[in-house]
Amino acid sequence: MSRTVDKLWNGREVAARFRTMVRERADAFRRRYGRRPGLAAVVVGDDPASLLYVAGKARACQEAGLYSEVHHLPATAAEEDVIALVRALCGESRVDGVLVQWPVPAGIDYERVVSAMDPARDVDGFHPVNTGVLWRGRPALVPCTPLGILALLRAYGVSPAGRRVTIVGRSPIVGRPLAGLMLLHDATVTVCHSRTTDLAAATREADILVVAAGRPGLIGPEHVRPGAVVIDVGITRVDGRPVGDVRTHEVAAVAAAVTPVPGGVGPMTVAMLLANTVEAAFAREEGRVPRSQVWLEAGDAVAGRWGA
Ligand code: NAD
Repeated sequence: MSRTVDKLWNGREVAARFRTMVRERADAFRRRYGRRPGLAAVVVGDDPASLLYVAGKARACQEAGLYSEVHHLPATAAEEDVIALVRALCGESRVDGVLVQWPVPAGIDYERVVSAMDPARDVDGFHPVNTGVLWRGRPALVPCTPLGILALLRAYGVSPAGRRVTIVGRSPIVGRPLAGLMLLHDATVTVCHSRTTDLAAATREADILVVAAGRPGLIGPEHVRPGAVVIDVGITRVDGRPVGDVRTHEVAAVAAAVTPVPGGVGPMTVAMLLANTVEAAFAREEGRVPRSQVWLEAGDAVAGRWGA
């Protein structure tokens, strides 16, 4: 048992180190420009999980020395009202990053709302321009969960270059942008989804297996190549507790490493949101396009501290 525990990666610790770096850069920004990098979050409706996530992001901003504001619109808000708010926030001088918490109530087209954003302030990386430049191989702002996965891999000294990477899930938030980012980092990428016919055949090919299906316990040792690295993105509440898509301890018996749920990818996502906001702030002041990639490079510089 202790051997499998040794294989669990510590996303909390790596995320904490990124947050320290974010705080240092936010302080440098404040010294240089006389203000703090700012994030505005919009939440529409009263979904308890969304309200919790947004409150957590605002708290994380405060802890990292960022300015933050939260705009809570009622579930009855019209799509045009949400779009008008997003446009207004993108014009505010103290706001460097804007996000609209997913999901939005039925009747509001999330794609339209996101498209109304200034791509240079789109710290979730969901704007079609940011999606397009990622797939063209010239990333600007990259979605936080895929960025966090790359940062975690690099922190543990695992490069995707030349590796076979299988991604389970093709959502616009995780699976698709991660595929683009992995390609950019020279991986050979397979993307599986709900219509994939032989999932185990595809996942057993993987040197790095990333699972983002939202199906608790979907992946067992029979899906994993011995020695693979397994990244579990899934978070589903089962009896009030977060459960991943991977049967962690069973898989750890065959894998080289597994990320736990909770304490794996989740903390990295919030850290990368802060990182994207600070990068957007510097880029705006310096009159250039923001690049999330700078954080992967910054993380590399201290990766040796984090493990093999
Ligand atoms: P989603 O529901 O939008 O997409 C799920 C994807 O999984 C779909 O593409 C679907 O085709 C695929 N899928 C579903 N069942 C499958 C099966 N049996 N075999 C193969 N593919 C299957 O979900 P999402 O927004 O991408 O999130 C996925 C999971 O990751 C959820 O549990 C979510 O809570 C979690 N998540 C975690 C973080 C984090 O920070 N750790 C961030 C975002 C999402």
